[in-house]
Amino acid sequence: MRLRNKPGAMDTIIANPQYILTDGSQWRGKWQDRFEKEQPIHIEVGSGKGQFIVEMAKAHPDINYISIELQTNAMISVLEKQLEEKLPNLQLLLVNGADLTDFFADGEVSQVYLNFSDPWPKKKHEKRRLTFKTFLKTYETISKPKAQLHFKTDNQGLFEYSLASLSRYGMTLNQVWLDLHHSDYEGNIMTEYEEKFSAKGQPIYRLEATFNNK
Ligand code: SAH
Repeated sequence: MRLRNKPGAMDTIIANPQYILTDGSQWRGKWQDRFEKEQPIHIEVGSGKGQFIVEMAKAHPDINYISIELQTNAMISVLEKQLEEKLPNLQLLLVNGADLTDFFADGEVSQVYLNFSDPWPKKKHEKRRLTFKTFLKTYETISKPKAQLHFKTDNQGLFEYSLASLSRYGMTLNQVWLDLHHSDYEGNIMTEYEEKFSAKGQPIYRLEATFNNK
């Protein structure tokens, strides 16, 4: 993702510890304490600028959302949105999704979202794809048994890879969409990338799958 360099981003992050953490390890197993109400926690790994998770948090006040993003310059946009909205059911965590077991206790999460994850098309970069088996294991470890993974992308190659990767990992594919925007799926909340790619006429792929190994 191309981003302007945002001066002072880290200062803004450090000034708002009520909404954003750069090291969540002290909240491992205690995330509910950071929210107004105790209710299921859904995470999005790779939130980008955060349109999806902010709109989801507004639409579903009965869910607690955590936005996870690696890049400071993207996360600052999520934080700016949250500083306007002040949603009691949204928290931000600036960390690598590969390390989530450091920040969440086993079973702390109820659902995982991935949206328009980087495709990493070269085989030698397979391990960086957010649907690679090590990531799936990480998500499952921090999730409740039979938790769901919801994934959207415009990238056919990543979608094909992910179907096979989830299947090899033993997940159940509950539903698959090959053209989400021309389907009867209701209540879709668009991400920034989704708006951009669908405006160019590209189909959006989506899947819902269940973890089975615990
Ligand atoms: N979900 C957004 C952004 C998609 S771009 C949208 O649909 O508009 C993919 C995002 O994933 C980038 O912001 C990138 O920084 C983030 N990302 C990639 N690998 C990550 C990782 N291992 N942990 C956390 N975020 C990651």
